[in-house]
Amino acid sequence: MGRSTPNGAGDLPRSRSSRASVAVSPTARAAASEPPRPPAPKENANLVEPRRYQVVVEHSFVDPDVRKVLKRLVQNGHEAYLVGGCVRDLLLGRKPKDFDVATSAHPEDVRDLFRNSRIIGRRFRLVHVLFQQRKVIEVATFRTTPENEGALIRSDNVYGTADEDAYRRDFTINALFYDLETNHILDWVGGMSDIQGRVVRTIGVPDVRFYEDPVRILRAIKFAGRLDLGIDADVHEAIVYCRESLKQAARPRVAEEILRLLRGGQARRSLYIAWETGVLDVLLPELSALLYENDRDDSPGARVWRQLAYIDAQHVAGEVLDDTVLWTLLLLETLKEACEGHRDRSAAVGDFVEGLVERLAITRRCADGMRRIIATLPRLRSGKAGKLVRSESYGFALHVAEADRLSEEVGPRPRARQRDASDVDRAGDQAVE
Ligand code: ATP
Ligand code: MG
Repeated sequence: MGRSTPNGAGDLPRSRSSRASVAVSPTARAAASEPPRPPAPKENANLVEPRRYQVVVEHSFVDPDVRKVLKRLVQNGHEAYLVGGCVRDLLLGRKPKDFDVATSAHPEDVRDLFRNSRIIGRRFRLVHVLFQQRKVIEVATFRTTPENEGALIRSDNVYGTADEDAYRRDFTINALFYDLETNHILDWVGGMSDIQGRVVRTIGVPDVRFYEDPVRILRAIKFAGRLDLGIDADVHEAIVYCRESLKQAARPRVAEEILRLLRGGQARRSLYIAWETGVLDVLLPELSALLYENDRDDSPGARVWRQLAYIDAQHVAGEVLDDTVLWTLLLLETLKEACEGHRDRSAAVGDFVEGLVERLAITRRCADGMRRIIATLPRLRSGKAGKLVRSESYGFALHVAEADRLSEEVGPRPRARQRDASDVDRAGDQAVE
């Protein structure tokens, strides 16, 4: 696509960059530098041995209750590993926000091993093991893709082996299995070398994996943005090539992934990648068009980047923004534009938002909040909140007004809103994603 870095975008990277350095042992480092192996043909999946890497991860990042769960499963003769995002985050030196366990044990066996557990889900049954303070550890039986011959199918549950479970995942960095007992990573897909090269790569042919599930396009952008990873050149090309398929994806899933791009602490970088790959043209063409208007520091396009930076600054400050605020800030300049020349701001913004509700499955609550905030924005900016003070939207509107004001300041990046003492504890809890 080749879009140049715009005004207000500051130090945004090119999404295909790659960097090094991970918390893996010297052995792992040496082996991980070899090129990744292509996925094995499905029919031979059960014969495939993984590469094993001895690793050292930050001990305090691993929840002690997760250790207990894994230990009990293994002591009872099952295979059990940490899997997915938590392994990726640990290897990148980040504290995981939750932990997923994959095991050879079937859901009933898992439930029998843990008194405080329950089976959930219909399409694929999982076990939630419950701990104090509402902590939940999710334990899933190894799965395979349904078309795989020889799979054991029980009421829509397609159980598989550890390697099959790895191959069904989306990106190599998300398909590493961590054996906590021996501190070994099991790698069937070349994920370790991609962790080390800091690159997002699909398991298998990128176009195929994106057409299979277009939401993976947004997931690739999310991981590249949030974790500051490069995107493999073929994957980048496939994102550009397959982006239109996002129109066929389930709208609530797409909406949720857009919110995740905004929530992850790197909204600005993530949206930049979405724009640079043309994905934003498909999802939010009006916003994408506006981003071209960035010839001056005070053009709408430049302000959008600063409004996104406001979202990121709130994340750093430990402030969790409501989805209403996230949608409003993402679309602020387009919403303002929709009101231009209209006497009745509420009606003008209402029409615009209705279109979005239809297209993106934005919830009714968020849409109503957006309408109210934008309708009163000029009054808010001049310190006259009126009836809004009594509504739920008032706190949301203050964020929007502040981001709007700061985005007009050319020069320093938007600052976080002032916090009071009660925010401090929350900030501590959320400082690491
Ligand atoms: P996050 O930190 O955002 O939660 P995550 O990698 O843990 O990232 P989840 O949505 O929690 O993402 O999914 C857990 C795991 O399930 C992923 O790491 C990946 O292995 C697998 N997964 C999730 N979504 C898909 C998908 N659409 N296609 C294939 N595998 C997926
Ligand atoms: Mg997760």
